[in-house]
Amino acid sequence: MNALLQAGRAATGCTLYLAGFKRSTGTPSYDLPCLMCSKMLVNASVSKVGIKTPEGLRELDPKELYRQHLDRVIVKFSGKEYTQRDGTGTQ
Ligand SMILES: [Zn+2]
Repeated sequence: MNALLQAGRAATGCTLYLAGFKRSTGTPSYDLPCLMCSKMLVNASVSKVGIKTPEGLRELDPKELYRQHLDRVIVKFSGKEYTQRDGTGTQ
């Protein structure tokens, strides 16, 4: 979120790369941007998000990432099991 705030309008059309470490263990973190950060990525018109994963770089569309978060929230409150839009699994 801080990177987006610092970039301001310069983030428009850019790719944001995300990699980090867990503070408690120092091991790599592969977490996706949270709901709020995903919403900010869409509003800042960031074109792609590059995320470090154990398999390598994974590129995501910020709008799809935000939609997946919204799907999870809707499913959470409906009491149903979440299934990804592409049908590849549940979370
Ligand atoms: Zn966040």
